Amino acid sequence: MRFVLLGLPGAGKGTQARVLCQQLLIPQIATGDTLREHVQEGTTLGIEARTYMDRGEYVPDALVVKMVEERLLEPDAVKGFVLDGFPRTVPQAEALDRALEAADAPLDVVIKFTISDSIAIQRIIGRFTCLTCKRTYHVEWSPPLDDALCDDDQTPLEKRTDEDELTVKRRLAIYRQQTAPLETFYAARGVLREVDAEASPAEVTARMMAALADVL
Ligand code: AMP
Repeated sequence: MRFVLLGLPGAGKGTQARVLCQQLLIPQIATGDTLREHVQEGTTLGIEARTYMDRGEYVPDALVVKMVEERLLEPDAVKGFVLDGFPRTVPQAEALDRALEAADAPLDVVIKFTISDSIAIQRIIGRFTCLTCKRTYHVEWSPPLDDALCDDDQTPLEKRTDEDELTVKRRLAIYRQQTAPLETFYAARGVLREVDAEASPAEVTARMMAALADVL
């Protein structure tokens, strides 16, 4: 099955994508994670993307679309995928349509995880991430057992460079401007399902599975 996950930064897309992918044995395609890997490795794409990412702005469509088109051609994406953080603009959604039409493999479901701006800000400002397994922690609500290390693989936890309050507020404004129109885009096509994501990760998983009960 082919999924797209939408929602504000901090809505839990990454966490829920991992659950869905483990259950359905399909790959998670998280453009933010892939871009951060490029930044870490210092590739040409990473160097160009970094200036946008640090400011909380979107990386230009052409760069991200090319990256995703290449990823979708890899063999593991044939049986399905969860796109987490892509598309984020209407031109990206149109490019995705073209790529999927060419493969005769349309999207099955778009899930929108809904949270308020204030919850998004609280979640992101307190968030620390394991760069190895991408698991996230929250300083108050879900701290790691050891202050600074991932419980699963003992990697030192890091704060992303785009997770200070000012940058988060800019990211929310950009989401509203550029990504929110995708909700109408996909609703018009009858593939959008909304999940109230203002709850614990386990509860949001239960709500997501309930919303997908007829297709899984
Ligand atoms: P994320 O990890 O999904 O929060 O993404 C982190 C950052 O990566 C975003 O703020 C953007 O700068 C960049 N990014 C990720 N996905 C996209 C996308 N589909 N289009 C443009 N920029 C993106």
